[in-house]
Amino acid sequence: MKITYTLTDESPALATYSFLPIVQAFLGKVGIQVETSDISLSARILAQFPERLKESQRIKDELAILGEIVNQPDANLIKTPNISASIPQLKATIKELQGKGFNVPDFPDEPKDEAQKAIKEKYQKVLGSAVNPVLRQGNSDRRCTKAVKEYAKKNPYRVVEFHKDSKTRVSYMQKGDFFDNEKAILIPNSTKARIEFVGSKGTEILKDNLKLDKNEILDATFMSAKTLDEFYTKEIEVCKKENILLSLHLKATMMKVSDPVIFGHAVKIYFKELFDGFSEELARLGVNANNGVNELLTKIENSSKKQEILAKYKEILDKSAPLSMVNSDKGITNLHIPSDVIVDASMPAMLKNGARLWDKDGKECDTNALIPDKTYATIYEAVVEDLRANGTLNPSTLGSVSNVGLMAKKAQEYGSHDKTFIAKENGIFRITDEKGAVLLEHKVEKGDIYRANQAKFEAVQNWIDLGIERADLTGNKAIFWLDSKRASNKIMIDLVQARLKEKGKDIAILPPKEACLESLKLIRNGKDVISISGNVLRDYLTDLFPILELGTSAKMLSVVPMLNGGSMFETGAGGSAPKQVEQLVEENHLRWDSLGEFLALQASLEFYAQKIGNKQAQVLANSLDNAIGKWLNNNKAPSRKVGEDDNRTSHFYLALYWAQALAQDSSDSTLQGFFKEIAEELSANANKIHQEYLSAQGVKVDLGGYYKFDDAKCNAIMRPSATFNTILAKIK
Ligand code: NAP
Ligand code: MG
Repeated sequence: MKITYTLTDESPALATYSFLPIVQAFLGKVGIQVETSDISLSARILAQFPERLKESQRIKDELAILGEIVNQPDANLIKTPNISASIPQLKATIKELQGKGFNVPDFPDEPKDEAQKAIKEKYQKVLGSAVNPVLRQGNSDRRCTKAVKEYAKKNPYRVVEFHKDSKTRVSYMQKGDFFDNEKAILIPNSTKARIEFVGSKGTEILKDNLKLDKNEILDATFMSAKTLDEFYTKEIEVCKKENILLSLHLKATMMKVSDPVIFGHAVKIYFKELFDGFSEELARLGVNANNGVNELLTKIENSSKKQEILAKYKEILDKSAPLSMVNSDKGITNLHIPSDVIVDASMPAMLKNGARLWDKDGKECDTNALIPDKTYATIYEAVVEDLRANGTLNPSTLGSVSNVGLMAKKAQEYGSHDKTFIAKENGIFRITDEKGAVLLEHKVEKGDIYRANQAKFEAVQNWIDLGIERADLTGNKAIFWLDSKRASNKIMIDLVQARLKEKGKDIAILPPKEACLESLKLIRNGKDVISISGNVLRDYLTDLFPILELGTSAKMLSVVPMLNGGSMFETGAGGSAPKQVEQLVEENHLRWDSLGEFLALQASLEFYAQKIGNKQAQVLANSLDNAIGKWLNNNKAPSRKVGEDDNRTSHFYLALYWAQALAQDSSDSTLQGFFKEIAEELSANANKIHQEYLSAQGVKVDLGGYYKFDDAKCNAIMRPSATFNTILAKIK
């Protein structure tokens, strides 16, 4: 068995330059092989175009290789967060690679011939949620470890008070959304299905040979474009009238096909006068509202109408609803870039900030948070209601909401990208089985956003069992977050009830809003509770509750027990923290907290030890557990301020405590003897090492790239303590 450690993007990738050498040294000592696998956005792009690259530039398709590894019974992966790229991010990466001499093609917005179509298809494989659905071949178990929770209670993050007269609210469509239009079926017999569109020109096959297995849940739904526009129009008026910020919260990264379109509608409605008034010029420039205002502003640079368009742009910003800002200083609005505001992280961040966001002057203001589809919007509505009724949450007394999430086999919406379509005209979307019988059918209008979702029986059953197992193991109350008013959930509820009956268990089933209110009530009373949820809620809840409880979702233990017996350990539940890279570049301070990596490594070692009965791996796992506890208690997490301990220093302290814990552990005398010496040397040099880390800070640094870092430069930047590096080199 070996451990595979992924190389990804932005902050976690930078942290890895410092942390991985420590991992390889300690694990290497007991003969555990740690391999790396580069699945960064740039590596994924390069792997698509070997024929265009020089021999020396070609790389293997590591994601495809990992996609096979995860199905092996001894798979043991440590996965750091990666960029789920939006089109603007993809384009920026292409530009950077081209500048570095890699002959990758431009992204064809509107492919003009077959060759361009083929290029676009390759890029589609890299966009959005390209990584996680491939790797996550199991359901998800995310929780806060006891040590982390205790630490968080003793050291609560700074909560911003929620004022009960706050005008903040969550708004969603009252009709015509995905929730309302959902239809579902439990597939009676395995079949190969087809998705077709019946329009004025006859029947067009959109997807053929869609494999459906017996007892899997197939659902389909659509969002009405017209109703969506009406919704936006109305909410803009509400914001104007009440003088509260308008902010849109979507998941344009993960939901790479549907959500950019929903985002684009908001851009077009908000800037309606601009899009109507300059429609020809914008079409000529190839402006696509789905890519956000930022692209529009870039593309008009060389237009003869630039000044007029800009004047209109400013006029609308002045007279329409005030927009929430991503960066007030730089004038970056909520509608600038589709991937800037991602609902699962952005909503809890707002909620813990007194439910306020920033306006154009950087002032904190009450907000109308638009989450058009009500399927999941209601959980945030529940939090606002709870805050209003019961006041600000107190993280030093809160219990914890852990999660068991359905995720395997690209379950539900997160596997829907190849089954998402925009209606080109009025017509009918339908899914038929191999005999031509209609399974599901939807009448739609031009522009409506249609998608079909699957949840395989094996995945659902494993998820229910995992939920029951966690409830049994912890004795905590558990709740299935399922809504009988939603067609697919209704079928799922039947499956859950049947399984619970079979196993003689009693677990509550509540619709998301009620489940959320109930969970908040329990944790306000200091109790722990398990949320057992579908795939999207898994994602949202494992940001929401950790952020409310701990201030961040990065400190979570996040395990994916694979259906085939292997395991993946994700590092926290958060993303790649792009803003932190800016600080590193500006002042050589990286505030990324690697606790998620530490926890993942500990669990991975534990899995290694147990799976193959390796005693030394168990010793490493136990001592790392101790070291993490000490690291937390001694407050060694990175500070946000330059000149203070950062990510790199925090890695040194973990190594020190790990070596010290090994020196104390008598279960393996050889290891103990060896690490006693290392611990003594690290300890004797601790002040010097600390100084070496601190004195490196406070200067601008050059990473040699953004999407493709320069390894030599980053190694030097992320490993500035010569003394520590020398001692570490002795371990192998
Ligand atoms: P995010 O990266 O979690 O960032 C939200 C904020 O949380 C960060 O700006 C940072 O706050 C804080 N944060 C997150 N992880 C942290 C850590 N380890 N240590 C300290 N602070 C941490 O979420 P996002 O902005 O929505 O997404 C950013 C990128 O990550 C996107 O490209 C997204 O697609 C990707 N993503 C990947 C995964 C995954 O691969 N599993 C999951 C989610 C998101 P401060 O900036 O204030 O320090
Ligand atoms: Mg998330």
